[in-house]
Amino acid sequence: QFPFGRRLPCDIYWHGVSFHDNDIFSGQVNKFPGMTEMVRKITLSRAVRTMQDLFPLEYNFYPRSWILPEEFPLFETEVRMMKDSDPSWKPTFIVKPDGGCQGDGIYLIKDPSDIRLTGSIQSRPAVVQEYICKPLLVDKLKFDIRLYVLLKSLEPLEIYIAKDGLSRFCTEPYEEPTLKNLHQVFMHLTNYSLNIHSGNFIHSDNVNTGSKRTFSSILCRLSSRGADVKKLWSDIISLVIKTIIALTPELKVYYQSDIPAGKPGPTCFQILGFDILLMKNLKPMLLEVNANPSMRIEHEQELSPGVFENVPSPVDEEVKVAVIRDTLRLVDPEKKRR
Ligand code: ADP
Repeated sequence: QFPFGRRLPCDIYWHGVSFHDNDIFSGQVNKFPGMTEMVRKITLSRAVRTMQDLFPLEYNFYPRSWILPEEFPLFETEVRMMKDSDPSWKPTFIVKPDGGCQGDGIYLIKDPSDIRLTGSIQSRPAVVQEYICKPLLVDKLKFDIRLYVLLKSLEPLEIYIAKDGLSRFCTEPYEEPTLKNLHQVFMHLTNYSLNIHSGNFIHSDNVNTGSKRTFSSILCRLSSRGADVKKLWSDIISLVIKTIIALTPELKVYYQSDIPAGKPGPTCFQILGFDILLMKNLKPMLLEVNANPSMRIEHEQELSPGVFENVPSPVDEEVKVAVIRDTLRLVDPEKKRR
């Protein structure tokens, strides 16, 4: 670790949070310039929407979204028009503060007029999105998938997707949103950081059970129920590639400004965390992209009130060690030299 930077050239630089060092002239850095900015909720929604306008059918894996506060009038108008044309449509929306994470500040609403348009939203921009009401359930619980994706190069575009990921479970049985259950975060939000505080959270040493499981264990289960798992994987791969394509034009601008062509500089690669929700009909929907996904392979356990200890988490270890190992193999400088 070099908390104050290191001047001797390295083969691989592993930055903790984002690309931040303009004094690297060779080797490979594990972050792309501008990635953190590009995957913020508002920027990601804008980038995907640009592609949705051009290719609506290809980009139908991202929920309809509006940017607040600027698009609030548009949000109101569009929802009113859709309700007028289809009176049976009873939507729910999810409001997510820009730059938030771990479910922070997220809430569900039934109508645009429920938005807390007071001071907080003016000072804290957000994305409001159509809520996916019919997710696929396992053991009556909602869950999402965290997949790890290696963007190995922008030009040429090289993307690798880890074959296993994590499935993060809610801790209250799922019910479709109603005014009564709208506030029940343990039912509607799959964030580990929230559900860990529910009395129902299950830490398991087995990758097939508990509140955090491997994605492969879910696929096995789906396959035994007769689901077309091959098609699901190919839809997921297509979602990942299309999302990265949507981000690419602006990423290239950042890249060229930080590492101009013709000047000595490093090349970049980056591990991204893709959060995906499966709908009941097995269609994958993109929730968000994380530029700095947690690589922790331990979790905290409360031994006695107020006394915590880090204990190994076999599920995290199984998935994340493979992601790091395969990433290092793919960017191996020896292999590059050969
Ligand atoms: P954060 O960065 O705070 O985790 P997310 O966009 O990942 O924000 O949303 C948090 C959780 O809310 C997700 O893990 C998922 O369970 C739920 N969620 C987010 N967007 C939707 C949506 N459009 N429909 C249904 N559930 C959603």
